[in-house]
Amino acid sequence: YDDRDGKIWMDGKLVEWRDANVHILTHAMHYASSVFEGERCYSGKIFKSKEHSERLIRSGQLIDFEIPYTVEEIEAAKQAALDANGLTDAYVRPVAWRGSGEDMGVAAARNPVHLAVAVWEWGNYYGDAKNKGAKLDIAKWKRPSPETAPSQAKAAGLYMIATMSKHAAEAKGCSDAMMFDYRGYVAEATGANIFFVKDGEVHTPIADAFLNGITRQTVIQMLKEKGITVNERIIMPEELEGFEQCWLTGTAAEVTPVGTIGDYNFEVGALVKEIASDYEKLVRA
Ligand code: PMP
Repeated sequence: YDDRDGKIWMDGKLVEWRDANVHILTHAMHYASSVFEGERCYSGKIFKSKEHSERLIRSGQLIDFEIPYTVEEIEAAKQAALDANGLTDAYVRPVAWRGSGEDMGVAAARNPVHLAVAVWEWGNYYGDAKNKGAKLDIAKWKRPSPETAPSQAKAAGLYMIATMSKHAAEAKGCSDAMMFDYRGYVAEATGANIFFVKDGEVHTPIADAFLNGITRQTVIQMLKEKGITVNERIIMPEELEGFEQCWLTGTAAEVTPVGTIGDYNFEVGALVKEIASDYEKLVRA
């Protein structure tokens, strides 16, 4: 993906896609001092753009750095990247990281913080799962306690176990993995939040050990506006058997129905179809 035409916004300038490089002694490469966003632009407008820019800044602060740009400047950078690539429907990936400097140890408070924004076309995250329901594995890695890692930061370090879990899932023919948290409660997928349906009510885990996704919050709001009860609560593994429908939410995933998690099966039922279609309309509204 690095050797192609296009432009990437990097530290205030648009650079050629293939020249958007960093030095090997970049602190982030060694110590995961990096945070990022995942956004989608629909018909020329990034959905919840400002919320994503704000979360990016907050993620940086949570891992102890200040991104040297304001929300407004980040908004302008994202638009500049879209314009430079002539895209109106795209995935938008801002990334901020601590660079190289005098300090090559763990501490690097004097090393500069950089920001880049790349944009590209990215279709359905789970392929044809939108109709059939995604097939999920159960990850062996657990989401860490908020006392072990900054759960609410969209920080690169938190994705180490996500990548390993997703690779293990793909090796078994699944498209993703559901992860438990450090207490053994149902948490989320590797890059998306999870919802369940039973007896006309929706159940979703409390976001205290994983990212409280912007899509998750949007979908909870949509459900409440429809008068559907949403139970944010502890969900135990043994409950999986009793749920009728299941779906994932995320910027990339949008609303994706889940067909199976390990040995448990779910129907791609009326509610998940309705929410997926309402979300599609909302993002383009
Ligand atoms: N959890 C994780 C681990 C994620 O990477 C994402 C994607 N950003 C989400 C949840 C969903 O977040 P959002 O709806 O804000 O994209």
